[in-house]
Amino acid sequence: MSSALTTPASAAPAPQPGRAPLKPLDEALAELMARAAPLPGMQAVSTFDADGRVLAQDLVSSLDVPAHDNSAMDGYALRAADWADGAVLPVSQRIPAGSVGHALESGTAARIFTGAPIPPGADAVVMQEDCEAVDAGVRIKVKPRPGQSVRRRGEDVAAGAVVLRRGERLTPASLGLAASMGFDKLPVAPQVRVALFSTGDELVMPGQVAPADMKPGAIYNSNRFFLRALLLRLGCTVTDMGIVPDRLDATVAALKEASEQHDLILTSGGVSVGEEDHIKPAVQALGELVLWQMAIKPGKPFAYGKVGGAHFIGLPGNPVSSFVTFLVLVRPFLLRLQGAAEVTVHPIAVPAHFDWPKADKRREFLRVKRNAAGGLDLFNNQGSGVLTSAVWGDGLVDNPAGRAIAHGDLVQFTPFPALMA
Ligand code: AMP
Ligand code: MG
Repeated sequence: MSSALTTPASAAPAPQPGRAPLKPLDEALAELMARAAPLPGMQAVSTFDADGRVLAQDLVSSLDVPAHDNSAMDGYALRAADWADGAVLPVSQRIPAGSVGHALESGTAARIFTGAPIPPGADAVVMQEDCEAVDAGVRIKVKPRPGQSVRRRGEDVAAGAVVLRRGERLTPASLGLAASMGFDKLPVAPQVRVALFSTGDELVMPGQVAPADMKPGAIYNSNRFFLRALLLRLGCTVTDMGIVPDRLDATVAALKEASEQHDLILTSGGVSVGEEDHIKPAVQALGELVLWQMAIKPGKPFAYGKVGGAHFIGLPGNPVSSFVTFLVLVRPFLLRLQGAAEVTVHPIAVPAHFDWPKADKRREFLRVKRNAAGGLDLFNNQGSGVLTSAVWGDGLVDNPAGRAIAHGDLVQFTPFPALMA
């Protein structure tokens, strides 16, 4: 997220006695970015399939786009100086799109269609709605200006220009632009290979046990579904390793296996401080735990480390915590692994149409929805297990530590679609 979202250092919560201080989000993000060295290599993919991928090389155009001065309208091309009020100009040629005319005889007009090259000698096009076809030719009813309705050669792209840069994320529009320069394949960063697993003995997969047969204490594994979908949206390949039991040996074994052949191991749950939370000791047994526990709400238990050659990110088990930490921390990390130059989503200032009277020591991410009056409504339950808030809501308010919100205050809002792309 942007430095515009930065919490002043003074707002970081004071450490509690006997506990390591929670990491301010901006510090954690800076450390993550510093460690997210772009993956080596590149892939050539069909321009058709490159949406969302990160360009690995500058794209230089070898031609002007458009390649010729051409007509922006269906109408008549002429020399503006040949016009006289009421005069009829003979029509000396017809130039449909895809064909090329010849030099325009002076004192005549060319019937021309959108996209057709302007014939040498003509300097304006008058749209057919402003013309009257008569037996002898055409009467142009409106005085043309030189350059009118002419699209200039190279006005979109000039030959030799760097049109799309290394590190840019391709969008549908940029695929079209690349195609307009003749690129049928694009050099993009390799996909991030992610191993994903959930921890928790309470977890059951939908489809394995019917809702009516769920044992007391059992819950469906929801994180696995949105995490996988979010990873796929960011162009990753996902190895879904399922559910790992709450045992240290099983957690160590899963991490070890995941560390082979993957760039990132992403887990959910088991990363807090309880006796059933084995992620932290397992990572420490196999590698290095670099970051643990953020000064954010939801999402405090977030962890980052290394296991073998793979990055490790441990997300909290609570679904909303998992979801929010993915958007705020994992998304920019994954984009940077792909060499993306811009990983920040800039928030916009929007008035809160709600009160949030109790300031928190941690920086908060509130689930909100834009209303028709141009303000933000707050979901009525901001609990970290209430996934409905992320479905009802259409974005997050980034509320600095220590700040209460009164109705009408401007708050920093980031829409979900920008955070999920
Ligand atoms: P943990 O972080 O493992 O202590 O889990 C925190 C809370 O999140 C507990 O209520 C878990 O049951 C719940 N939880 C953990 N993993 C998942 C998951 N994959 N899907 C849904 N809820 C989960
Ligand atoms: Mg657990």
